[in-house]
Amino acid sequence: MSEHRQNNVHTKKVAVIGSTGSIGTQTLEVITASQGEFQAVALVAKSNAELLLEQAKQYQPEMVGIVDESAADFLKENLPKHIELVAGEKALLAGVLAGDTILNAVVGFAGLQVTVGTLTAGKRLALANKESLIAGAPVVQRARAFPGAEIVPVDSEHCAIHQCLKAKPNVLGAAVEEPYQLSGADILPTEAAVSRLLITASGGPFYGRERRDLEEVTLEEALTHPTWSMGPKITIDSSTLMNKGLEVIEAHELFGVSYDKIEVVVHRQSIIHSMVEFCDGAVIAQLSYPDMRLPIGYALNYPDRFFQPYGKLDFTQLARLDFGVPDLDTFTCLALAYEAGRVGDSAPACLNAANEVAVQAFLDSKISWLQIEEVVAETLDRHNVTKLLDVEDVLYVDKEARELAEKIVEKITS
Ligand code: NAD
Ligand code: MG
Repeated sequence: MSEHRQNNVHTKKVAVIGSTGSIGTQTLEVITASQGEFQAVALVAKSNAELLLEQAKQYQPEMVGIVDESAADFLKENLPKHIELVAGEKALLAGVLAGDTILNAVVGFAGLQVTVGTLTAGKRLALANKESLIAGAPVVQRARAFPGAEIVPVDSEHCAIHQCLKAKPNVLGAAVEEPYQLSGADILPTEAAVSRLLITASGGPFYGRERRDLEEVTLEEALTHPTWSMGPKITIDSSTLMNKGLEVIEAHELFGVSYDKIEVVVHRQSIIHSMVEFCDGAVIAQLSYPDMRLPIGYALNYPDRFFQPYGKLDFTQLARLDFGVPDLDTFTCLALAYEAGRVGDSAPACLNAANEVAVQAFLDSKISWLQIEEVVAETLDRHNVTKLLDVEDVLYVDKEARELAEKIVEKITS
């Protein structure tokens, strides 16, 4: 480790919320690689106390948080006494308070408090947890207005778009560094200069199949992603293309670009992570091997670049880059997400909640893979769209949609 980096007086304090997951553990690898530039000051997770303890011993954070109180005893007994332990739901906000940059690597709607808490505290949110932005969009957008608040996306496609948008600096300034106003004039530069956001999709493990080939899909098949190794929820979302659908809504919310200008392009090799087409027809793309440590490093270092590459492209080995169109008739979750995004207000929160319930039911072998979309479609169909004015409204809609989706799961399985 270089002397210079070791003694860096500008060490940036990172709180890793969801530290035991796929993104969380990769974030800790990036922190190790930063040679002292970043310090993990808070590690928070749901229930994996053994791994949390191991991480705490290695990274020596100021605090460790565990949401599941029943798993806290193990840490109470084993955690070094100089590290503060916070147990229960309050661990999430305690983690947010400890860091300057908050890496939200929680999976699912549970990440909402972290997203809103970080922005209202005027801190940088390195955002992997797309579900909080999608479900709580109107509230999250308002929280972006707090002085000092900023979102730098970790999701690889959005990180790519964030980079591509810099090809037109005032676009980035208008759409990302300032809060996106739902009806404000400051999204106009983006809308005028950007003609399309092209979100790439690997297509998942079932690309090319038709509906009749998908009736007997097993959990194991759905959990095998062709290019990325990720947590179970997002891996299932990738197999249904709901992940891409959520990413379309995420892109709309992050960059203030209308749905008519957001397209999904199937690109099996996952080398191009997304593209922006400008009004003059120029397309800017970001290419790299699929490795989440690049977007994580980008989000922590922005506006600087991380000095550490994770695999440089070898163009002599890249025989070809292929592109295709998504099959919306087979993968209807993508179409449902566009629909919910366009309706806006509480519809994306309902879509997200129904999807979380359906994916869990599939992971628990209660419903089939094709029934995931059935649960989401019926929940959305029966949902009464309302305005989301505050966090309580978001929590209410999420709870209501979950209850409805659970009932639909019961109906299907009885
Ligand atoms: P994961 O299942 O591997 O890890 C989830 C983490 O969240 C764990 O540390 C877990 O303890 C924590 N967690 C779960 N429920 C919690 C709760 N109620 N309260 C507090 N913590 C809780 O998930 P992952 O694949 O790392 O995904 C995390 C987020 O990043 C998701 O929103 C996902 O969509 C997004 N993302 C992941 C990848 C990837 O490569 N894994 C890529 C892009 C975006
Ligand atoms: Mg992604």
